Amino acid sequence: MERRPLVAANWKMYKTVAEAVDTAHRMCQRIAADAVAEVMVAPTFVSLAGVGDAIRGSNIVLGAQNMHWEKEGAFTGEVSAAMLQSVGCRYVILGHSERRQFFGETDQSIHRKIVSAFQAGLVPVFCIGETEAERDSPQTFAVLERQLGGGLGQLNDEEIQSLVIAYEPVWAIGTGKTASNDQIQEVHAFLRRYLADQYNNALAKSIRILYGGSVKPGNATQILALPDVDGALVGGASLDAESFARIVESCPG
Ligand code: PEP
Repeated sequence: MERRPLVAANWKMYKTVAEAVDTAHRMCQRIAADAVAEVMVAPTFVSLAGVGDAIRGSNIVLGAQNMHWEKEGAFTGEVSAAMLQSVGCRYVILGHSERRQFFGETDQSIHRKIVSAFQAGLVPVFCIGETEAERDSPQTFAVLERQLGGGLGQLNDEEIQSLVIAYEPVWAIGTGKTASNDQIQEVHAFLRRYLADQYNNALAKSIRILYGGSVKPGNATQILALPDVDGALVGGASLDAESFARIVESCPG
């Protein structure tokens, strides 16, 4: 099955509403309507509505960076999947390493979020990745198996096939260090094999697996050409419309 690449911008806690809307307008002008890749932008919660308006009618879709697993309730400061859906989100990034590291997210809480995202009709972009110490131990594959198994839990095959996995080695996020092409391809092929073993071949072949970690215009062409890489989750280099557009254009046609 053909896997359409997804290039996703994670704006983290950057940009005021005005800045976010301005960058979104620039992206719409700069990114071709017939781009090979599907393009997603995930601003902060407060900018979702404004960015949603800015990208309306373009081929860029809206995503959020996080959500709570409950539908509603006394959870001060939190936002639900239905709320994200109501503002026009199609995707939600879940389990980002910064959420795991600074906000105590666990495989179990991420699993609950994934289940809740599906119930609201959102597509989870489920992030996994090892730390530098885990890679050096070496425990990379054990960590990824644990994160995948914990996050996916008892989801059915159809749900798993429709979500997006983002492999983001923690040591490469925001550090300027990029995993080598061999390291990236090795992990992506491992993930696909794991999914084939645990679920089935068709699922493993059709699921999209993105790479994230210091992807920039200068390295995107090589990374996006790797056989098991189906796009990129981009932090720092997505804050500028021109550099993000160049990454989008780097997807092989
Ligand atoms: C990210 O935030 O998911 C990310 C990959 O960041 P960066 O591109 O800055 O490494």
